Amino acid sequence: MNWRHFLPTEVYFGKGILLEKGCKLKELGKRVLIITGKSSSKNGSLRDLKDVLEDLKADYEIYSDVKENPSFNDLRDARRRFEGFQPDFIIGLGGGSPMDFAKALSVLLKNPNLNVSEIYETDKHSSMYPVVEIPTTAGTGSEVTQYSVITDDDGNKKSFGADHTFPTLSFVDPSYTLTMPPDLTVSTGVDALCHAVEGYLSKRANPIVMTLAENVVLRIKKYLPMAKDNPKDEEARTQMMLASTMAGIVISQSGTTINHAFGYPVTTFKGVRHGQASGLFLVETVRVMSKAIGEKVEKILKPFGGLEGLDEFLRDLGVYDLKIHISPEELEKWSLRTSKAKHLKATEGDFSLETVKSIYEKVATKIG
Ligand code: NAP
Ligand code: ZN
Repeated sequence: MNWRHFLPTEVYFGKGILLEKGCKLKELGKRVLIITGKSSSKNGSLRDLKDVLEDLKADYEIYSDVKENPSFNDLRDARRRFEGFQPDFIIGLGGGSPMDFAKALSVLLKNPNLNVSEIYETDKHSSMYPVVEIPTTAGTGSEVTQYSVITDDDGNKKSFGADHTFPTLSFVDPSYTLTMPPDLTVSTGVDALCHAVEGYLSKRANPIVMTLAENVVLRIKKYLPMAKDNPKDEEARTQMMLASTMAGIVISQSGTTINHAFGYPVTTFKGVRHGQASGLFLVETVRVMSKAIGEKVEKILKPFGGLEGLDEFLRDLGVYDLKIHISPEELEKWSLRTSKAKHLKATEGDFSLETVKSIYEKVATKIG
């Protein structure tokens, strides 16, 4: 098997790392746009970042209106506000939503002639302003991926990613995640678990990321329940942050599979967080994949003792504790869309429209 491994992001990891190594930002310039949500002012990360930028005498502006699962309209708003700003670089601070938003806005500000919808067409742009990512959740791994997931005007979550959309630099401090409540800890941690399992099973996986993925599964099995039960457990938070960044490296090379596409409408139309939405389908999608690649599935799920063990793990974490009604019309519409998702290219197994529908039905029964 021939493969390529490309990961140009410089990563700094550890407690207090932003204050310790923030001087690296000097190399990128002095005019800075910070993209964030509301929680960064409560977990210490925004304070640290401001201290670093003030020390460097940088000229910065803050856009703190990023919502969960950012949309085209949010991007249009930010683009209008910062049209003439011409930053030297852009910082994404927060969960996956602000980190992804920073990448998308960077492409749009650098390429003013691009329509918002053209961000997905990565042959229409070839550069962005350098992006620095600082995660405050342990889940998406966006600090080491080229991907940005943005919801289009019809409510479809779609991602783009290319060699030029990797972050230049990331500062990963697990202590910013100490403020995450248990439900957010589980949802984001399960996202990282899905990245590792899906990335390992993807047709695009390479031996480097497969090794990482096996290690990620071990870490998450041990430390996610601990982080959920003891939010202030620094060791569990550190291990989960490490697992999340490692899982990000996995999908930066292998991509995710159809499992992620299953979750997207549940997030957009039912308001279920991304990680939990992906976790809902993991057992059933991997069950179908196992018909084609049984040995591989057995290997990555070994720490759980197989699919039933994984199911139990997710149930114990509360991933299925939802009450959501999916109407027959929604089921039809979602199945049709998911059965055509671009993720299928990298997915093993037979995901015909019938199969996709039966998975939605099974999960709808589980949570209905
Ligand atoms: P998120 O949508 O960024 O944030 C979820 C919630 O967590 C928000 O209410 C946020 O508040 C809050 N929050 C963030 N950090 C916190 C902290 N330390 N303590 C307490 N609350 C905190 O969640 P996410 O799961 O990290 O990101 C999900 C997004 O990333 C989705 O759009 C998903 O599609 C995308 N994603 C991207 C990739 C990739 O490779 N690029 C991979 C997977 C998923 P505020 O918003 O007010 O700050
Ligand atoms: Zn994900």
